[in-house]
Amino acid sequence: MKLILLGPPGAGKGTQAQRLVDKYGIPQLSTGDMLRAAAAAGTDIGLRAKAIMDRGELVPDDIMVEIIAERIDQPDTARGFILDGFPRTVAQAEALDKLLESRGISLDAVVEIAVDEQELIKRIATRAKEMGGSRGDDDATAKRLEVYRKQTAPVSEHYGAKGMLRRVNGMGTMDEVTALIDAHLRPLVEA
Ligand code: ADP
Repeated sequence: MKLILLGPPGAGKGTQAQRLVDKYGIPQLSTGDMLRAAAAAGTDIGLRAKAIMDRGELVPDDIMVEIIAERIDQPDTARGFILDGFPRTVAQAEALDKLLESRGISLDAVVEIAVDEQELIKRIATRAKEMGGSRGDDDATAKRLEVYRKQTAPVSEHYGAKGMLRRVNGMGTMDEVTALIDAHLRPLVEA
């Protein structure tokens, strides 16, 4: 199963990705996690990325494409993978198309978890309160949503135009969303 999971910050991508990992036994390739690991390790790219992430902006496409190319070439992706947090721009999506094509890999599905912005703001605020967030975090959140709207939402259209996009309603409970995703993926497994 080779999947892309799309959706705005706060949509529950991480939770759903983890459930898919358990269900299909394939790795989750989360670019957010990769960047945070690089930052924690103090690598040059990691430290540059951390400043960008803290502002809610996007790390440059060329860096992200290089990171994901290296990761997809690891042997554990042979049976499949779940891309979570990538692609986040149309340029990244186009680069990914080329990268997969050059390796003879084809995607099974692109699943978008759709949640409206009012609900996202509520969810993110609740999460921030639980984690004892600051004003700076609020600014970064607003920026993240704006970046999503301007740069990442068009990625859905990229896959929609190819007839690959499957949109699920992300407004329900985690279990409801899982069931909706499952309904899209089950026929692919059985096919
Ligand atoms: P979220 O909180 O939306 O799940 P992630 O954990 O996926 O966010 O990513 C955190 C941050 O890492 C992003 O806000 C962005 O700054 C950076 N990042 C992650 N993936 C990408 C990407 N594909 N392109 C550019 N920047 C990225």
